[in-house]
Amino acid sequence: MRLLSEKHDIEYWQYSRQANIVYLSTLFSYIIILPLFYYVGNMIIFYINFFSMFVTLFVLYLNRKQHYGYASFIFITMVTIVTSMETIAFGLDSGFGLFHLNMAVLIVYTNWSNQYRIIGVVVQGLLYIAAFFYLQTYPPLTVVEPYIIQIFFVLNVFFNITAVSHSAYYYENIAKRNRAKLEEIAQQDHLTGLPNRLSLNQYLNNTLDKEFKGLGVMMIDIDHFKKINDTYGHLIGDEVLIKVAELLKKSMREEDLVVRYGGEEFLVIMEMERARFFREKAQRILELIQSTPIEVTNQTFNITVSIGAFYNCCNVDLSLEECIRNADNFLYKAKEQGRNQVVNNEAVER
Ligand code: GH3
Ligand code: MG
Ligand code: MG
Repeated sequence: MRLLSEKHDIEYWQYSRQANIVYLSTLFSYIIILPLFYYVGNMIIFYINFFSMFVTLFVLYLNRKQHYGYASFIFITMVTIVTSMETIAFGLDSGFGLFHLNMAVLIVYTNWSNQYRIIGVVVQGLLYIAAFFYLQTYPPLTVVEPYIIQIFFVLNVFFNITAVSHSAYYYENIAKRNRAKLEEIAQQDHLTGLPNRLSLNQYLNNTLDKEFKGLGVMMIDIDHFKKINDTYGHLIGDEVLIKVAELLKKSMREEDLVVRYGGEEFLVIMEMERARFFREKAQRILELIQSTPIEVTNQTFNITVSIGAFYNCCNVDLSLEECIRNADNFLYKAKEQGRNQVVNNEAVER
């Protein structure tokens, strides 16, 4: 499901939204340029552009219907033909040839196959070069006042530069957003939705500089979890894990970090001023899980956990890794001593 929605998201932002902006701004540019064509009296170019406006409307409709490939193909073909004609009509100085560069950039961002995109880009280059050599030999078809050429040039430079830089900016943003999303996905456990082990690094980066008043680390492991899997199957086991994760998350404060550390093992990191508070918290968690029936598809599970609870006073210089290792050792002890219990380091209490 996630993959599907990711794909849809990329389609939406890359092919639909961006293309819509391009098509709409093209429609807008016709409003400025059409009166100019009319004014200089090149009626062929005028009617071709007038017709292109309706083609662009049709392209917008196709894009809405999610025919991104066809829409971009019709649009790019249309602009390419019109651009070539305008360049021949008004000369290179008019700046219409810049649209070939613009189209080459757009082609890269379409959903066409690589082969078609390469052909498309090469065609744009060849047409521009062909127009250049044609105009070396023959004069532009329409003779107009130099100030008209200057207006065309300024408009075309402005339109093409903003369009190309907008596309680049837009795709940079898409890339940034996708990177952030991937990071988020990579740091989340897909089953329980809790942060996973990888997210510990980020936690460390964000909180390392902070002065802790005292840090509590709990390693919580479900007792005899394998039996649930063996008796009821992995899917039921998964549901139990989800419910336990919810229970843990709910019983912690917003600022506490609850991580799915491994299969049926959870790590809790919390800032606490006193070791006693932390020990009491660990005990309460143990009792809460023991006393909460876990309901999964008409079955009720009464599960217990073992907890290794290590408290690190602010004046003891231990790394988080060492704290986790100590909590893990305490967990091991809790299992050894018969499970369903908390083992902690009362000795370091202030
Ligand atoms: P102990 O009391 O010693 O912790 O016993 P246990 O059975 O809980 O521990 P053990 O390490 O023997 O088994 C852990 C089991 O957790 C084995 C593995 O199949 C199961 N497990 C790990 N990850 C998942 C998961 O994502 N889903 C399900 N359903 N089971 C999982
Ligand atoms: Mg276990
Ligand atoms: Mg385990």
